[in-house]
Amino acid sequence: MTIKVKKNLVSEAKYSLKCPNHMDAEYITIHNTANDASAANEISYMIGNTSSTSFHFAVDDKEVRQGIPTNRNAWHTGDGKNGTGNRKSIGVEICYSKSGGAKYKAAEKLAIKFVAQLLKERGWGIDRVRKHQDWNGKYCPHRILSEGRWDEVKAAIEAELKSLGGKTSSSKKKTSYALPSGIYKVKSPMMKGASVTQIQKALAALYFYPDKGAKNNGIDGVYGPKTANAVKRFQLMHRLSADGIYGPKTKAKLEVLLK
Ligand SMILES: [Zn+2]
Repeated sequence: MTIKVKKNLVSEAKYSLKCPNHMDAEYITIHNTANDASAANEISYMIGNTSSTSFHFAVDDKEVRQGIPTNRNAWHTGDGKNGTGNRKSIGVEICYSKSGGAKYKAAEKLAIKFVAQLLKERGWGIDRVRKHQDWNGKYCPHRILSEGRWDEVKAAIEAELKSLGGKTSSSKKKTSYALPSGIYKVKSPMMKGASVTQIQKALAALYFYPDKGAKNNGIDGVYGPKTANAVKRFQLMHRLSADGIYGPKTKAKLEVLLK
């Protein structure tokens, strides 16, 4: 059964505040609201206030509400104005997480079905699902994390996706990269050359662009602060020590993911 979404979309006059950029989403990010409001109230508050904070969907025990179009970016992952979470992911807030209980459980259940539906519609696998924490370290979705159930929630989404006949992993275009050995970091003079370009291209292939807004996504063969920042975001996401320095562990992880 298809879950119907009730739309209460932000007015175009507020796009510059809430969702200034066009988005071709690559991920879905799961949040807990840390609040006890309904989905309707979460969305109407979000689209009506003067804060830039925004998210696409709120799910409660009864329904899914949408406030931001999925082809616009929303500010929900705290990883900056060019962060992959903010610029490439659809934000789904699960309501009633503050107090928990039966209403929260029902909201989470509906959110699991809804996220599976979003994956199915896009031909995506479970590998596209992220938690807010993956992007900037914030303890969110707080209730799922504190109950130690993130893997369980992901497994439930995957099972639901399977029952909808969806793919379990996304096919990504793979190219091989000649990733250099050795240590690359920001220093003076800056490290540059073809090997740095390979690192930058590998990061970009996994959506960790050195500079999303810049020409060629910032792939310029120079290991400057923006490349270090992309490395750092990649490390944070993959539980490596997030120091922005490219070394053997970062190389190995990139190679596994690009295989
Ligand atoms: Zn969050």
